[in-house]
Amino acid sequence: MGENGDGAPRSAAGADPVVTVVGAGLAGSEAAWQLARAGVRVRLHEMRPVQMTAAHQSDRLAELVCSNSFRSASLDAAVGLLKDEMRRLGSLIMTVADRTQVPAGVALAVDRDRFATQVTEALCACPEIEVIRQEVTAIPDGVTILATGPLTSAALSRALQGLLGQHYLYFYDAIAPIVTADSIDRTVIFSASRYGRGGDDYLNCPMSRDAYYQFVDALLQAQTVPTREFERCVYFEGCMPIEELARRGRDTLAFGPMRPVGLVDPRTGERPFAVVQLRQDNHAGTLYNLVGFQTKMTYPEQRRVLRTIPGLAQAEFVRLGSLHRNTFIDSPRLLLPTLQLRAATSVFVAGQLIGVEGYVESAAAGLLAARNAARVVRGLPVVVPPATTALGSLVHYVTDARRRDFQPMNANYGLFPPIATRERGREKRRALAARAQRDLELWLTRHGAALTAPGADVSAGGA
Ligand SMILES: Cc1cc2nc3c(=O)[nH]c(=O)nc-3n(C[C@H](O)[C@H](O)[C@H](O)COP(=O)(O)OP(=O)(O)OC[C@H]3O[C@@H](n4cnc5c(N)ncnc54)[C@H](O)[C@@H]3O)c2cc1C
Repeated sequence: MGENGDGAPRSAAGADPVVTVVGAGLAGSEAAWQLARAGVRVRLHEMRPVQMTAAHQSDRLAELVCSNSFRSASLDAAVGLLKDEMRRLGSLIMTVADRTQVPAGVALAVDRDRFATQVTEALCACPEIEVIRQEVTAIPDGVTILATGPLTSAALSRALQGLLGQHYLYFYDAIAPIVTADSIDRTVIFSASRYGRGGDDYLNCPMSRDAYYQFVDALLQAQTVPTREFERCVYFEGCMPIEELARRGRDTLAFGPMRPVGLVDPRTGERPFAVVQLRQDNHAGTLYNLVGFQTKMTYPEQRRVLRTIPGLAQAEFVRLGSLHRNTFIDSPRLLLPTLQLRAATSVFVAGQLIGVEGYVESAAAGLLAARNAARVVRGLPVVVPPATTALGSLVHYVTDARRRDFQPMNANYGLFPPIATRERGREKRRALAARAQRDLELWLTRHGAALTAPGADVSAGGA
């Protein structure tokens, strides 16, 4: 094989482009399928079972490492809309998920064994796909999609650090919760930066002495998620969970992330006993994160305890806090919205490795990377979905070069550009979904058949 101008390997006759996909989890499996459906040959490298990760249990492709839920199936949730978009784009993961679903109310949950088996069979039955059971330890030559996920092997992590620079690859999530701007009670909070430096950039939730100690008690009593064996590590001081800080002493938080120094509530002219600061999280100003509030409280406990914070009684959480082992790259600095590395455009990155969070989001990133990889090897211009779609909003979020302190993100309506409507809550989400569906159709029409996937016929997969 030789190399063409895009770095795409071609056969001696100049035909049959090949793309290498590394990692056959949710993103890599979807990517391989999309490439094969576009008539591109695929070398799909998966290291299991030769080398296992600390979380996977089997040799099957697209194994779900934890929950069997793909979360909400409703358009009221952005992840439901993302599923709808993926179906329109001919997703293998969605086709098999729909075929293997089990009853789960408004969620789409699957029989995990049937799901992984059917994805594996569908991919292995594709004549275009060669599955290679081998750990990849160096960045392959030619057009490549890296989709090795949150538990990328140590050797490939080192190779990635060599390519990207060691400050651009992270190994731990320290996620603070994020709420929608609409759901913050502005009559309770005040806007100010410490000592007036930086204008009114922060929203401050003021707490009295009594409110603060009640909050600390609630934190100390809250249930937390157990730390898995392979996640055990000493937390960096800068990403200590708030409940751990509270355990160090009842005043620790008041001297740490909840310190009130330099902040005066203009309504009382006094400094509160403690504050929770909220910082704008996206350019549109529709999302705010709780500064320094990474936590291992369970999700229901986070909703309960954090809604006791003044101003957050009605908070709508688009992301809850967590701390766990996760390999991901600093996408805002490294990645183009086409999912190509800025420094090496023949290398695409997809899945959790780019800082999206969740099964559906990871698969969706695999889908986009593959569509663009197929376009590169065919000499077509690469494409980016509109920011008004669920896929486009997620990709724009993780690749927004203005973003600092990057942490992984789920699909959520807070990422969407504002829409001119007086509606709130569910009606507003419906309006955002309708705009997304219309814009996706326009985008598909504009880019023609190269983007409109042939239907995901997985009959060869032996459903
Ligand atoms: C412990 C844990 C629990 C999670 N629970 C959930 C959950 O309940 N719900 C949810 O939505 N998300 C969950 N996630 C996040 C989840 O991992 C992602 O949502 C999703 O699996 C990521 O998809 P991916 O394709 O990027 O990575 P993966 O699905 O992990 O796939 C990556 C693949 O690459 C392979 N690989 C790694 N290194 C190499 C190498 N060097 N060479 C070849 N192959 C390699 C791995 O074996 C793996 O098969 C969890 C993550 C972890 C770590």
